[in-house]
Amino acid sequence: MDFNLTPDQIAFKKMAQELVAKEITPYIREMDEKSEMRPGLIQKFHEAGILNLVVPEEYDGPGLDALSIALIYEELGKGCAGIATSAAANALASYPVVVAGTEEQKRKMFDTINDGKLAAFALTEPNAGSDAGGVSTSATRDGEYYVLNGTKCFITNGGISDIYTVFANARKSAGIRGLTAFIVDRNTPGFSVGKKEDKMGMRPSNTTELILDNVRVHESMRIGREGEGFKIAMKTLDAARPLVGAVGVGLADAALQAACKYAKERQQFGKPIASFQLVQGMIADMAMAVETARLMVYKACWLKDQGKDYKLESAMAKCLAADVAMKVTTDAVQIMGGYGYMKEYPVEKMMRDAKLLQIYEGTNQIQRLVVANSILY
Ligand SMILES: Cc1cc2nc3c(=O)[nH]c(=O)nc-3n(C[C@H](O)[C@H](O)[C@H](O)COP(=O)(O)OP(=O)(O)OC[C@H]3O[C@@H](n4cnc5c(N)ncnc54)[C@H](O)[C@@H]3O)c2cc1C
Repeated sequence: MDFNLTPDQIAFKKMAQELVAKEITPYIREMDEKSEMRPGLIQKFHEAGILNLVVPEEYDGPGLDALSIALIYEELGKGCAGIATSAAANALASYPVVVAGTEEQKRKMFDTINDGKLAAFALTEPNAGSDAGGVSTSATRDGEYYVLNGTKCFITNGGISDIYTVFANARKSAGIRGLTAFIVDRNTPGFSVGKKEDKMGMRPSNTTELILDNVRVHESMRIGREGEGFKIAMKTLDAARPLVGAVGVGLADAALQAACKYAKERQQFGKPIASFQLVQGMIADMAMAVETARLMVYKACWLKDQGKDYKLESAMAKCLAADVAMKVTTDAVQIMGGYGYMKEYPVEKMMRDAKLLQIYEGTNQIQRLVVANSILY
């Protein structure tokens, strides 16, 4: 095992740290309150090369390895997990094309995100969350076209993307074996953005409904074969989950740093609260949890980069890092007492943001099922 980062990886981390310090931290409270990213931020992300990290070099992207991408997302997670989530949605939406796309589809998706545009991954529906096989959006054949009808919900970047990977059922009677993935342009007639969600945390990220009303998609934009959608979605989520883990590690680390700084400054009983052993115990547990989650995320990425099977470790990384982020941010609020609970300090937002990590891209219960099934069978 080699825990040294390459010079490139160190440079990527520094680039992300600078982006956070300059473009996110000074505006974070305003973006949280307004529930949107400030104008021009996506352009800054584009200029920093963050939006197309998974695009291979032969398609004019950086073609970065999974570990390098995770290191960047860890830094972004320190700044704002919601903004990191918005940027990561480009990776989530692109993976189906990476996994099973044709040359034409790769060009279309990658050219769009290479241009600094956003993409969204649309699987979830009001009645199909953990049970992705319950997708009821239909894809009905009409000559060379499919006609898509249905509603998607909770879609990250739903309202601000140019291109979408949409999952619909092309053979209702086949259930999960009818699930099929498509690339849909935002300006396709019949495609519209529905309600924007007002969320507890990760508020700068845009989350909306999508409405598909007789949306005609040419068969050339069907990703993989009819009925391969479930397999493509699962492979996509395997690839994307370590990134959720990386954001969780960054978020947890930022909360730990905030708690340490405060504990050294805050005086009670005539001493800094950092000198109390009960507080020290919490700090030590938080630090050990962050480091454990970090190692798990890096291992999942390392396995992926080695071309080894990483499905189990990907689920472990997402689940562990999300739970760690929730616990560590909650403890950071505790260490900061009443001040931690106030919006004037950063940790209450971190605690609100952390909760989502346990829910999206497969809830942590679903990750535990993946882990248990992998180990048992
Ligand atoms: C802010 C936000 C952004 C999101 N972004 C996207 C996106 O970009 N694209 C997209 O497609 N989706 C997105 N989602 C959807 C997200 O992935 C789902 O919310 C998630 O998969 C859970 O589905 P659900 O909300 O319907 O909960 P449900 O599936 O109804 O689950 C409710 C509860 O039941 C538990 N549960 C369900 N089944 C089982 C089981 N078999 N065993 C044990 N427990 C179980 C769950 O763990 C959970 O605790 C987003 C969600 C949110 C909140």
